[in-house]
Amino acid sequence: MTDTLVEFDELLTRYEPVIGLETHVELGTASKMFCGCATTFGAEPNTQTCPVCLGLPGSLPVANAAAVESTIRIGLALGCRIAGWSRFARKNYFYPDIPKGFQVSQYDEPLCTAGRLDVEVDGRTYRVEIERVHLEEDTGKNLHVGGATGRIHGADHSLVDFNRAGIPLVEIVTRPVAGAGEKAPEVARAYVTALRDVIQTLGASDVRMEQGSLRCDVNLSLNPVGALEWGTRTETKNVNSLRSVERAVRYEMRRQAAVLDAGGRVVQETRHFHEDTGSTSSGRSKEEATDYRYFPEPDLVPLAPDTAWVEELAAGLPELPAARRVRLQEEWGLPATEMTWLVNAGALGLVEQTVAAGASPADARKWWLGELARRANDAGVELADLAVTPAQVAELTALVGEGTINDKLARQALDGVLAGEGDPRAVVLSHGLAVMGESDELVAAVDAAIAGAPDVVAKVQGGKVQALGALVGAVMKATRGQADAATVRRMLEERVLVG
Ligand code: ADP
Ligand code: MG
Ligand code: ZN
Repeated sequence: MTDTLVEFDELLTRYEPVIGLETHVELGTASKMFCGCATTFGAEPNTQTCPVCLGLPGSLPVANAAAVESTIRIGLALGCRIAGWSRFARKNYFYPDIPKGFQVSQYDEPLCTAGRLDVEVDGRTYRVEIERVHLEEDTGKNLHVGGATGRIHGADHSLVDFNRAGIPLVEIVTRPVAGAGEKAPEVARAYVTALRDVIQTLGASDVRMEQGSLRCDVNLSLNPVGALEWGTRTETKNVNSLRSVERAVRYEMRRQAAVLDAGGRVVQETRHFHEDTGSTSSGRSKEEATDYRYFPEPDLVPLAPDTAWVEELAAGLPELPAARRVRLQEEWGLPATEMTWLVNAGALGLVEQTVAAGASPADARKWWLGELARRANDAGVELADLAVTPAQVAELTALVGEGTINDKLARQALDGVLAGEGDPRAVVLSHGLAVMGESDELVAAVDAAIAGAPDVVAKVQGGKVQALGALVGAVMKATRGQADAATVRRMLEERVLVG
């Protein structure tokens, strides 16, 4: 079934989008939330389990202090109020990956409340208010075997891996964000990017969306312009990359507009995002909080972080991305808009490391936002996941700077680096990519270009010096781009103008 969609620009004249983001972050603690099991990603299924995380009767949980500490640090970094008293609650529901029949989470007494995160898109700052930051346990993972899609529909049978069950999970819930208009998709993406940067800076998680250590549910509703009540929202799950966050918002805006235009009502439901088509499809109708029969978890003591400890954690926070950005902008002398692009592309840290490895800020920016951003986009991966390190990018800029290669050859060298052939210098050597010096071959190519175009030579000698460009082009072509254009131009001038 294909959805009817309204053109994005057109719907904005009639509807105002409201977004809300729920982000789950798996903390990078060595052990699980309520037991001592290891949390290593990718281990053999069901090898990191024990009676507690398997939910066996009679087992008793004990809270992981490092996870509580990380949650408080995240709350502090987001400007939240840290509760002096907080409790875990049972969220009751049946699902095969939740062996106890409930998830230990937090309900009306979360650890952190009322924070904020500012993001900037196209020169405007959007304040995203944080409703709450709470701590819970992750579920196990269902594996559906035999179907084409990996989903339960069409599968022969399903298996459950409990290695993930009980990994500490922090949920960060925003308040509804209205007023972003046409920028709503980008604001949503910029928010998740900024949140990821904060958590990465804290060292609280490796925040890898493709491995599921950062997962995002995208809530979206549309308001008819001028309406007093907010529209009904959908909650899109399976949004596994920053790019998908933006696409999911855009798609739901276009789909919901079509539903409303046709006089229909948006159904409050969870929806699934499909990476291949960029579309969403209906999941299940949404439960209300009352369906979960929340009640305080009787097997765990309340959390009552003392003020001195919280103050100590606040004092120990590292420099956060917002402050780092201001400092680096000053150090690098780049315009504010460029810094925004860097931040929203998730490239600030990469550029910083590239500069630390010896590149100029301008060169580092140019590579990460230009050629490398293009490659990441083509491959559908995040910048940080490209198989090239900041040090290698710095080496590329150094090779260009010293004249060993030009930009075109640098892109070829990059192909080799991305293919795992080693550092740029090694790739340049093994592929013979260095630009030609004033070799016999180059002299011959220059002479041939002059001999082959007497009309151009006459023009140049008659005063139309720009015509020399045609000869430069001919030499570059004959040398397959291996020559240095400035050298070629000088050699031509020596022969055509002086000689
Ligand atoms: P649930 O647990 O049912 O998902 P929450 O109270 O946790 O509900 O809120 C889910 C998210 O939906 C929050 O980020 C909230 O800001 C957002 N939200 C609430 N109402 C709307 C709305 N009308 N449009 C868009 N987002 C909304
Ligand atoms: Mg929710
Ligand atoms: Zn365990």
